Amino acid sequence: MTGSSEYHGVIGVDRIHGKIDEDLLLCSICHNVLWNPVACKSCENAFCTLCIHTSLKEKNNYCPFNCYFEERKCPPCISILLSKLQIDCCYKLNGCTTIVSYERLDEHEEECNYQPLECEKCHKQMLKQDFEQHQQECELIDLTCNECHVIYKRKDLNQHTEIECLQNQFEQQQQMIEKKMNENEDIVKNMEKETQHLVQSQMTTMDTKLELVDEILRMEHETQQNEFEQKFQTQQDLFDEKQKLMEKKLNENDEKYNMMLENIEEEIQQIRLLKNDSNANENGTNAKLCKVDLDKLSKSVRYAGNPRF
Ligand SMILES: [Zn+2]
Ligand SMILES: [Zn+2]
Ligand SMILES: [Zn+2]
Ligand SMILES: [Zn+2]
Ligand SMILES: [Zn+2]
Repeated sequence: MTGSSEYHGVIGVDRIHGKIDEDLLLCSICHNVLWNPVACKSCENAFCTLCIHTSLKEKNNYCPFNCYFEERKCPPCISILLSKLQIDCCYKLNGCTTIVSYERLDEHEEECNYQPLECEKCHKQMLKQDFEQHQQECELIDLTCNECHVIYKRKDLNQHTEIECLQNQFEQQQQMIEKKMNENEDIVKNMEKETQHLVQSQMTTMDTKLELVDEILRMEHETQQNEFEQKFQTQQDLFDEKQKLMEKKLNENDEKYNMMLENIEEEIQQIRLLKNDSNANENGTNAKLCKVDLDKLSKSVRYAGNPRF
């Protein structure tokens, strides 16, 4: 929709109803009725804002009356005179008969039903009052099907048959199902990945635990073995000590018997000597003595009781 406000600021004297003070109310640059007026501080002449700004750029900031321009507000008397003006709508040639005050001119012309508009689709020119109707009829306007939501031009309305509409709906459903299936596939893939990751992580944890248990068992076994070896060594030492003691005792016994043997042999020797003497002197008495010494010897042997003997 293209409105037109380019008339603003160009209010020709022919559009004014009644008398107008041209010296005061016409812009000395565009010679139309002042629009958005401002004044020169030096010469006090009023100009349309747009006109004076364009002129200042061309004239190095000098006003059309050759004074250095400094802007001031438009004098109140000019504003009052302007507000009393009755003006033809700028679309009078299109049929608008409205006569409007200077202050409401802008507002009316923006809404005026006689302003020309152009259809965006077919580019046909028409008045604003006909625009709505045209939108209902224009063959190039896009329509959206309520069922399948496909967009088509109004002129193609007859081609959008019920079969085509159903086919569109079916294709859309299929696309939606495909999209859902793809989404589900992605979800499953992600879940698989996550599961794999989880299993891997748990296996690693288990491995670590098993290694720990192995280590503990190995250490326990080592400790037990050490304890056993220590006990065995103690027993061995004890046994060795006992054996030594036994050997010592045996040696002592051996010595005792050897000494006893020596004694016995000595006594036997003495008895023999005595026997020989009695043979030479008195046989009966010496025989008695000999019997007594042999008894003594027999007693000594019994006392020893040594198995090694
Ligand atoms: Zn002007
Ligand atoms: Zn001036
Ligand atoms: Zn109008
Ligand atoms: Zn059109
Ligand atoms: Zn449809």
